[in-house]
Amino acid sequence: MSPAALKLWLNENAELRDAPVGKAVAHNRKSGKRIAAVVPMHTFGHPCDIAGIVEIAGKWNIPVVEDAAEAIGSYAGKTHCGIIGDVGVLSFNGNKTITCGGGGAILTNDAELGKRASI
Ligand SMILES: *Cc1c(COP(=O)(O)O)cnc(C)c1O
Repeated sequence: MSPAALKLWLNENAELRDAPVGKAVAHNRKSGKRIAAVVPMHTFGHPCDIAGIVEIAGKWNIPVVEDAAEAIGSYAGKTHCGIIGDVGVLSFNGNKTITCGGGGAILTNDAELGKRASI
């Protein structure tokens, strides 16, 4: 995913609709469905332009779920991949850099979200 492609797609296909409470919510113009998240991934440990993606998603109030399954130990700038979006995910499957045979981890700096994810 590139920030330029994301920006173009959102400009052509999304609209912000007022919500009863809180920020306006991005919806797909054609389907009418809420755009729940942007899910960029870092391929084979090479970081995508996550800062650019976070910036664009932020303008649309869309949370970023960063797929860092292949990027444990990788950095985007000075920051570990997986902790730049609202949520990051790691995989410990057998074919990953660090394995537990299976499983994974959710990373977030949002205490409330972390609490909900740990239940
Ligand atoms: C492996 C992988 C997943 C899935 O991880 P599982 O632990 O097998 O569910 C998701 N995204 C990427 C980019 C992967 O490489």
